[in-house]
This record gives sequence, structure tokens and C-alpha cells, in this order.
Amino acid sequence: MTDQRGNIPGLVHFVCQDYVGITRGRGMARERLASQLSKGVGWVPANIGLNPFGEITDNPWGPVGDLLLMPDRDAEVFVSGADGTSPLHYFLSDIVTLDGAPWEACPRHYLKQQIAALDRLGLRVVASFEHEFMVTDIENPPPPFSLAAARSEERLCTDIHEALDEAGIEPEMCLAEYAPRQFEVTCRPADALRAADRAVSVREVVREICRRHGRQVSFSPKLANNAGTNGVHIHLSLWSADGQPLTYDSRRPGGLSELASQFTAGIHAHLPALTALTAPGVVSYQRLRPHSWTAAYACVGDRNREASLRIAPINATNGADPARQANIEYRPADALASPYLALGALLAAGIDGLRTRRTLPALVNVEPGTIPEAEYERYGMSVLPGDLAAAMAAFGRDDVLRATLDPRLIGCYERIKESELHAMADKDDQAICRDYARIY
Ligand code: GLU
Ligand code: MG
Repeated sequence: MTDQRGNIPGLVHFVCQDYVGITRGRGMARERLASQLSKGVGWVPANIGLNPFGEITDNPWGPVGDLLLMPDRDAEVFVSGADGTSPLHYFLSDIVTLDGAPWEACPRHYLKQQIAALDRLGLRVVASFEHEFMVTDIENPPPPFSLAAARSEERLCTDIHEALDEAGIEPEMCLAEYAPRQFEVTCRPADALRAADRAVSVREVVREICRRHGRQVSFSPKLANNAGTNGVHIHLSLWSADGQPLTYDSRRPGGLSELASQFTAGIHAHLPALTALTAPGVVSYQRLRPHSWTAAYACVGDRNREASLRIAPINATNGADPARQANIEYRPADALASPYLALGALLAAGIDGLRTRRTLPALVNVEPGTIPEAEYERYGMSVLPGDLAAAMAAFGRDDVLRATLDPRLIGCYERIKESELHAMADKDDQAICRDYARIY
């Protein structure tokens, strides 16, 4: 049976995204959807222990137990099929127990808990994830940012934009980026949970459209020694429960309100541990190097693309309210990360900054790599972990951040990362790039 456009109907999937940023789930015939929407589909606890390479690592559940993937009806994604391809149709789902209660180790639940903690303070966060990726089978890449680069992939970029639009992701731009073969997709900011949902779907929709075009794509942070880097930049702003913008104050450093300064200072203070969740692969640390417009140092900068926390610019051309534009950009993240864990942990760190009334460090408004070590203290600056083992060690020491995460989630996450380190132990940088590029 085909629809009017000649497409086969296809399956509908209930999916979750796990700790290693892979979307997994189960599909069913459309006829079953109505009955399954309220009761979910079966899921297995140990699935969350999968590492990127498909091995189930040691986890607290082993072969025992059953769970459900419970679809969020507001997180349905539908992209029409084309040329004989069935539609991409799925519901992002929560992992719940058999009686429907949140499962303690569900990453989406973790983000919801941090959103609830903010809500108790009368606050909400609006966020947006910018994704960079590479279409790896372009033979002779046109110059960076060029119209030629955009036009040479006009069909692909247009289809990606249209699919994101149909999926309700509100794309803003699909642009040719700096590195050869690199593109970037940005979408409109949304409430924290929706923003994380959109981050999952940007990756899946881009992969889907590339698959349909028979093209090769990767979001992995570094694809080869001589390649550029793919980042995920997470933009955040604070709002009151009734929708008043709370991030901006023109009289203060960087134009950040006292509240936003404390929140940002909290993220800054937890940066070394946060990288374990936001730049979570062995390959991630081939990206986070000095002088690469990524983030090799823990510091805050005003419109500084080498700072891990960049105060984003305000467009003053058209009289738009600066208070509604002001936002902070977190840069040491990549698409190996679960958007739920990454954003959840950023909120947890920000909340800690509010609780402890942390002071924003002096802003770094030069290339941080040029600042002599003797001046680090002045800027509250440190070198971010240089590899995954160092990031995991920092995560191991951060009791404040760990207290916000379920101990089983932490244990399982740590075993996964140990297995990743072990799998990559004897490989050179190039082989590590290749292994992650195959998955992401
Ligand atoms: N490609 C850089 C990264 O890996 C970011 C460049 C930019 O500022 O857009 O984060
Ligand atoms: Mg970019």
C-alpha cells in the first residue's frame, strides 16, 4: 500500500537517546500506534549500558528487569517519505518502570529533574543547540562559508531544512561552515526539554536526509588528523516563570545580570567535570585544543570563540530588545553527548552557582592561549581536561554535580567510559577518529 505520493507507509518508532548519544528504540505498524501510545513498548534496563561500539558494559541491572519506552505525545517527529522511502516517524520517549513511574537512570528524566529544580526557584531556561557536521563524500570542497559551497549542496541543504521544518524543529539556518565539507544547522531556541529533544532530532533528521540522498555524513568532533572540528554549541538564557527575560543587565560586565552571572559562574566552576558529560568520547579531546575556536580552557569571554563560555552578541540594528536576545554559549560540547545529560548537568551547575551566589570571573577577551599561566588566577582560568581519562577523573571529584545524578546512572556511565578508553587504548589518533566517525 502506498500513499498519494507513492510512499510506503512505514513503521512508527518509540525511541530514547542513551548516555552515548545514540537513539535507540522499537518500531511498530501504524495501526498499533493508537493502542501503544498510552501503554508504551517494552525496554530493557541494560540497554543503557551500551557503549558506542555496541558492547553492553557492566551495569547495575544485568539481565534482570523490564521497563517501558513511554512516548511523549508532544515529541512526535514526522518527516514525509520521498522517492519510495517511508516517512521518518518517531516519538521521543521517557524510560519508565512497568507502573509508569520515571526510571531513575533515564537521561531525559535527569533533565526534567533539573528543570523542576529551576522551576522551584521561579526560573526557566531557554536553550538552543547548534550542530556542525561534515558531508564526507564531497570530492572537491568549495571555499569556506562560500555561496559555492552552499549551492553545490543545494538539494541536500534544502531537503534538510524542509525536513527539519516539517518535524517542528524550527530551523533557522543551514550554512556552509569553515572547514572543508562542513555544514551547520541552527534552530530556534525553545524550553530546555524541547531544546534537547530538538538536538536529538537535528542529528536524526540530517542523517535521514543524507541516507535518502545516498550521502555520507558525520557529526563526530574530529574525523581525521587534518580535518576541522565539529562542535555542538549550547546557548542558554534565563527567564522568569511568567516569561520575563532575566539574562541581561547593560550596567554589568558582559551585560550579564547578577542572576545570569551567578548561573554562568556555576557552570564555569564545574567545567572540568562537565566535559566528561558534554565532550564524552576519547575523540572529543582531539577537538578541544588551543587555537582551534573550540574550548581548551575553563574561562568566560565576551564574544570570544576560544572561551568555553562565550557571552553571545546582541544585534542592535533593529531596535529589538537586548534583554530578549542575551544568552550564554557553552562550547566544549559535541554530538557524542546525550543532550539530556549535557543540558541537565549545565542546569545543575548553573543552579549551584545561584545557590552559592558565585561571582563571575574576570572576562577573558583575548585568545586564552596567549595568557601567561601567572595570570590564570585573575581570570579564574584553568586548562580543561586534555583527554577523556582526565575528564572522568574531574567528574569523579565533583561531588556537587554527582549529587544531582542517580548513583546507578553514574556507575553505568563510568563503566561505559572505561570501556571506551580501553577500546581506544592502543590506537593512534587517526584510528580513533575513524572508529568514532563510523558510529556518529
Ligand atoms: N568548529 C568549531 C568547533 O568545533 C566552532 C567554530 C564556530 O565558532 O562556529 O566548536
Ligand atoms: Mg559554527
